[in-house]
Amino acid sequence: MKKIQMVDLHSQYNLIKGKVDSAINEVITTTSFINGPAVKDFAKELAEYNDVEHVIPCANGTDALQLAMMALDLQPGDEVIVPAFTYVATAEVIALLRLKPIFVDVEPDTFNIDISGLEHAITEKTKAIVVVHLFGQCCNMDNILEISNKHRLYVIEDTAQAIGAKYTFEDGSVMRAGTMGTIGTTSFFPSKNLGCYGDGGALFTRDSNLAEKIRMVANHGQRVKYYHDIIGVNSRLDTLQAAILRVKLKELDRYELNRNRVAAYYDEKLGSIENITLPKRFERSTHVFHQYTLKIEEGDRNELKDYLANKGIPSMVYYPLPLHLQKAYIHYEFSKGDFPVSEQLCEIVLSLPVHTEFEEEQLDYITQTIIDYF
Ligand SMILES: *Cc1c(COP(=O)(O)O)cnc(C)c1O
Repeated sequence: MKKIQMVDLHSQYNLIKGKVDSAINEVITTTSFINGPAVKDFAKELAEYNDVEHVIPCANGTDALQLAMMALDLQPGDEVIVPAFTYVATAEVIALLRLKPIFVDVEPDTFNIDISGLEHAITEKTKAIVVVHLFGQCCNMDNILEISNKHRLYVIEDTAQAIGAKYTFEDGSVMRAGTMGTIGTTSFFPSKNLGCYGDGGALFTRDSNLAEKIRMVANHGQRVKYYHDIIGVNSRLDTLQAAILRVKLKELDRYELNRNRVAAYYDEKLGSIENITLPKRFERSTHVFHQYTLKIEEGDRNELKDYLANKGIPSMVYYPLPLHLQKAYIHYEFSKGDFPVSEQLCEIVLSLPVHTEFEEEQLDYITQTIIDYF
């Protein structure tokens, strides 16, 4: 049996090696390393895939969040609502820009932002909400957009884990993750569902003025070279990465299907274990299974993790500590007990390996080992 990995990027590469190698070769041969044609082509193709007007590539998913907040002209002291249970990047840029992160709890079953907590956190200083489509499944965007419209707030969708997920609104219309709010952001970190071979990121928006502003902010605040209208940053997607992403975008639907096959396998084999809860499917969203995350309701999560590791099965805790209790964020007047769901999830979640190139033999071994443990 092939060694089990959290993410098997090598097997994934082998299947598209010819196309990737020639795409890389073309960039090197033409030496168009910065803003080469592949960057524009990729942005256009991703815009078509996502059915959104504008895609602005940038250097990574954290930059994408920062560019979004800079383009929205958020000012020091403005409050930005963000879930307590997510990757640090979501809150980091808020703090970095001297905005004030206002944490809210998440739902215990979907791990996504808690809607009533969200509404309670709004004050007259609130300017924006950052929602995270965590582990590959969309938040309740009907509710979120209703609240944001009522209070006139921007909505930034952190889509780093959910690219491609489809959300069906109450009225039946369907949109992709990242294209429903004011701005969507994503990451092409290698292990993400659409990953490049280094760092990369992008923003999505339907608003042409905002798209232009984001482009300016990402390019030293200039519209015309050497004329700087606003203070910006330098955040670009390398042409090499764009060329690789063009190849991989064509595979994204297959990747999603393969991830769902893994999830369905886990669901079927692990569903009867009483001590664990399987990830819940939210009926309004498809799930692209960036992570397949169990809740170990009874028993010791860390002991299970060690047990699996000893049997050659990697697993990960996403995330071991909620953001409001992190050392860097503890001064924002939140404390232990404020977000009990996030705090408890950090104790009991365990993400199993999910990737696009699993063999049935491996999945059988993983599930059988877990069944034996319980
Ligand atoms: C990966 C990730 C990011 C950051 O992406 P980078 O490209 O690593 O900067 C932001 N938010 C979430 C939820 C992520 O999972």
